[in-house]
Parts: sequence; structure tokens; C-alpha cells
Amino acid sequence: MGAQVGYLTGKFLLEFKEEVRHMKAAIMETQPEIQNKGKDPMPEAPALNPQKYYRLPWTLNDNGISWLEVTDACNLTCEGCYRPHIDNHKSLEQIAEELAVFKSQRNSDCMSLAGGDPLMHPEIVEIVRMVREGGWKPIINTNGLALGKKLLMKLKDAGASGFTFHIDTTQIRKDSEAESEAGHNELRTKFARMVAEAGGLTCSFNQTVSVNTLDQVKDTMEWALQYPDIVHTVVFILFRSPSLTGEFDFYANGENVTEYDNYEETPWGGDSLVEARHVVAKIREVDPEFEPSAYLGGTVDPNSTKWLIGARMANEKRGFGYVSPKYMEYLQMGHHLFKGTWLSYSTPKLLQRGKSTTALFSLVDGGMRKIGKEYIRAMGQDEASIRDKLHMQTFTIIQPVDLMADGRANMCDGCPDMTVYNGQLYWSCRLEEIKSHGCFMQAAPRKCEKPLQPEIV
Ligand code: SF4
Repeated sequence: MGAQVGYLTGKFLLEFKEEVRHMKAAIMETQPEIQNKGKDPMPEAPALNPQKYYRLPWTLNDNGISWLEVTDACNLTCEGCYRPHIDNHKSLEQIAEELAVFKSQRNSDCMSLAGGDPLMHPEIVEIVRMVREGGWKPIINTNGLALGKKLLMKLKDAGASGFTFHIDTTQIRKDSEAESEAGHNELRTKFARMVAEAGGLTCSFNQTVSVNTLDQVKDTMEWALQYPDIVHTVVFILFRSPSLTGEFDFYANGENVTEYDNYEETPWGGDSLVEARHVVAKIREVDPEFEPSAYLGGTVDPNSTKWLIGARMANEKRGFGYVSPKYMEYLQMGHHLFKGTWLSYSTPKLLQRGKSTTALFSLVDGGMRKIGKEYIRAMGQDEASIRDKLHMQTFTIIQPVDLMADGRANMCDGCPDMTVYNGQLYWSCRLEEIKSHGCFMQAAPRKCEKPLQPEIV
């Protein structure tokens, strides 16, 4: 009887799995299209299946990160920046009020300090102290131009947890005149070393990617793979602009505002939308082992990966593989259980503990066992020694707002970059709409496919 039940269950499972496979394929075929003018031919890139990865448990109220804008002032003009640069530094009272709104509405591990460039704020050290005292890890998002060793140490002493440097070809910089992403790698290394020398801080790099720079993702990857000890995270942010979306009219307050959009278009952005899968394909050209393990989906399209994260275990000589979705799940759950928040940026101390965490999780997870075996094999070949540190290095791809063909905006579900404006939480990427119109713009497609009418017999 037992065997029969086992057989029937097994058969049922096989049929069920087959059924699910068909359903998934059908869903992939019918998923709503992103509006994309698509003049540039996009390279082939296989679709991603988010069901394979761990869905980060981040929500509006309980998230890994929050986003505090301290000023609109900036010492650079990046192509595609959506924020007008005005010297409107927020007062410490305003900042305290915004922190109080975060405190009452949103539990989070880290606070990204953003702008403009937050280092333009004359009281940035005090702001970092306020954020730390409020219980968040302050992460400073900067282009680095105003950062010297003295300021870096002051920020560290005030409680900074890490830096995210935005360096890429959208900028005309006086400290790196390179016109390619590869050309900026020297500057990236300089900042990574400076942060490493200060000690105890995480160091991340953001790079905007358009169809014109997609191929150069490989150069940044090749560079980052050499420095798992000091380059903790690289984030590829996909470029979006109104000209890349399809045929829409935009409405706010009941009026057509299509013509009043003051966004400055740039040829840098090219003529087609890059999706996360295109970047994954490029990364794999450099590191075929690359495998994402965690993601945030879209608010409209469940098949989209709006934040896609792959984390690699590596020493300074080589990589040993990418962590499993289960590992990411344990990390998040453990952090929430013991620290009360979902984990976003880990401390360098934790990132260096790759050996012990791999050994521990190898006991319960096949994916981590694979990394452990590879590490032991490498010890035999002198590519690893028991004294080498094993670092976790993260690669993230962010695919910001996409307009679907039916006019809905596909946002990051569980947006980590929610910011406060007039006492309320808003997506920071669309704050300009609120500032300009008091509401979000609604996109109306100029031409919609009519749904098929059911046949009447
Ligand atoms: S919804 Fe916008 S602000 Fe939020 S994470 Fe996505 S791109 Fe960033």
C-alpha cells in the first residue's frame, strides 16, 4: 500500500511538475511587454526565471534600506540625472523630522544618504551622527569628488557604515577624464583603497548602464573580480528616460502634461531599453559561473527582476562560486531574528567570514556544499590556503521603473529607496513628479491592443 501511494504520489508529482512547466512557459509567453521604442538592436539574452531565486522579504514597512535625501546640490552633472541641482540643503531640524517619519513608518537596517551629493551638505558629519544614533547604518552615496582622507575619517568617527561611489561615463569628471568604463577603473581602485585603509567600512560602486555602454559591463566586472577584499558590491543601474518608452501621453491633475516634461534627454542613453537579463548575459561573458540568488519583483510584472543579486565567494586569487538562494534566505532570516531588521549592506567583518559561513551552510545546503568542495580542491592546487580570507562580493542589477504597454508603471515591489517628502513615503526615482505636479503622472498609451472578444456560439 505504502509503495502504491508512493508510486501514485510520484506519478502525480511528475504530472504536476509537467503541468507547472507548461503553465510557466505560457506565462512567459503572455507576460505584458515593456514599452520600448527599440531602435537599437539588443543582443540576445535568455529570459530570467525569478522563481529560481529567493524573493527578498523587503516591504514598504520593513526593508533592508531607506533613502534620505539631504540636499539637491551637486558638484557634477551626470547624464540622465533626474534631480535639478539647487543649493537647498535641508536643515538638521528637517532631517530630524524625516528620520522620525522613517522611524514611525519603516523598519530598516541601512539609511542611504543621498542627494544631489550628500557631501555638499555643510553639516554632513552631524547628519551621519544623527542617522547612526537613530539606529541605522549610514551609507553615503557620493560621486567621491568632495571626499578626502580627512573628511572620510570624520564621517567614519561619526558612525558611517560605508560608501557607495557613483563613477561612470555619464559624468565629466576632473579626477578621471576617461571616456570608457574601463578608463574609470583606476579611479574606482583609488577610492576602494582609501576606504579600505580607513578600515571597517563597506565599499560599493554604482554604474549606470545604457545600451551604449552595455558591453562595457564586462570591463567593470573584470576589474571588480580582482578585488573581492576591498570592492564589496557593484551595482549596475539600468538607464531609463522618457524617450525610451513607447507611445504615451502623460496626465497629471486631469491635464495632458506630455509637452511639459522638462527632462533633458541625452544621446548617452541610446535608443533601446536594457533589461536585467542583458546585463546578466554580459556578466556571464566574463564570469560564466555568475548566478543570481535573490531578487525583488515588479509591482505589475511578476516575471520581472527589478533588483537582482548575485553574491560570489572569492579569495584574492580566484572565485569559488555564487551563493545559493537558500543561503540568502538564511542570511535574511537570521539577521531579522537576531538583529530585528532585514540585512542590506553587511559589515566588512561579516563579508570576510566566507570560510566559516560556507562551512556552516554546507551542512544544510547543496549549493553551499559545492562552493566548500571547490575551496577544498583549490587548497590542494595552491589556489587557496587555510590562512586566506574568503570574501563575499555582491553584484546587483537594478531595473528601475518600466512602463508596460497597457500604461501601468512596473515599480520595484518592496522598493528599498523610499524617501520622505512632506511627511510621506515616496519612490525616490519618481519624487520629481510629486514635486512638480503634487501627484504621480499617469501614462496613457496612444494605442492599446483590444482584448480578444469571447466567441459567442
Ligand atoms: S522603485 Fe524606483 S526608487 Fe525604488 S528601488 Fe526601484 S528604481 Fe529605486
